[in-house]
Amino acid sequence: MDHNYADTVLDLYDIALLLNYERASTEPRFRHAKLREVATTGDFKTVRLLTPAWTEAAAIPRVGFIFDKPLKPTHAEKDEPDLPTNMLPASPSVDLRKLTPTELETHYWQARNHDGCYRTMALLQHFIDLFPEFTRVRVRTVENNAPRSYTTLANERLIVEMKLASPRTLSMSCVLPVNTTCITGGEPTMDHAILGFSAPGSDIDTILDLSSLQFGDVGRGHKGRSLFVLEPVSQYLDRLSKYAEGHNYDQAKISMRINDAPDSEWLKEVAQRTKLRWHNRATDPWCGHCGAPGRGQPLKRCSKCQNAHYCNADHQQAAWTFHKHFCTEPKAKNLHSSKKASF
Ligand SMILES: [Zn+2]
Ligand SMILES: [Zn+2]
Repeated sequence: MDHNYADTVLDLYDIALLLNYERASTEPRFRHAKLREVATTGDFKTVRLLTPAWTEAAAIPRVGFIFDKPLKPTHAEKDEPDLPTNMLPASPSVDLRKLTPTELETHYWQARNHDGCYRTMALLQHFIDLFPEFTRVRVRTVENNAPRSYTTLANERLIVEMKLASPRTLSMSCVLPVNTTCITGGEPTMDHAILGFSAPGSDIDTILDLSSLQFGDVGRGHKGRSLFVLEPVSQYLDRLSKYAEGHNYDQAKISMRINDAPDSEWLKEVAQRTKLRWHNRATDPWCGHCGAPGRGQPLKRCSKCQNAHYCNADHQQAAWTFHKHFCTEPKAKNLHSSKKASF
């Protein structure tokens, strides 16, 4: 009877990795689009943009992206996931070639997270709806440099909707030739929605923000590295002051479920793919930083616990500040307990 019970404990950190990877790599607004230009100060060089939100925002830190989206992807491109590593065109400009992998990663996520909070709320809801009612979720965070972990019911997560006052940055993505423009910030207030989790019997103690990189690097999670935020409320409130000059978290609207979000059919497919990957986790692991599967070549394995996997050394490094709190050597191999994990 009970033998499948462990299977229904979802690890929230891993689920967040998978949901984010599957969502971003197939985002309809940016599907197959290549980055043409990035601008912060001044005008774009390759296109004349008259969008007032952009031209009038010169006074606050801003970043703008121009993407070229093919009207019809080639056969070879059709099933390729969109990733930070294939976001540049075949002949990138000199400026684009100067971008570091980390900068490309931030730009990739910043663009895909425009209006991302309601999409991610809906996505997690579609995902949890695929599991039985009393499915549990393990919530792992690091608090005061120590790991914290508890298990709660997935259905008891809460949606927290608040207002941010005077966002500190503006970001804009313009996708050509369809000419769709997405803007984050630039208004006196903006809505932001996150998920709250709580240990059984307590108030919300942990926040999951899957669209945090819409605010740029300040939206990176643990120690400024990860691609989403999963952290105790107190840390999250500090983070909010980097997103915006003010917020009303204390008077936030709390609810159990969200009504439909844009792109619902696609989000349901993302949820299904994520469920399949979670189900196949023993045979098809994913990168502990970006959620990518091993495509063509196997992922590298954490040599200490043998349990975490990474695309490369950069992604291992990025995940290590979090993973080190949960990385334990298999008992039989407990010979060099002080060594730092490496490949
Ligand atoms: Zn990776
Ligand atoms: Zn490890």
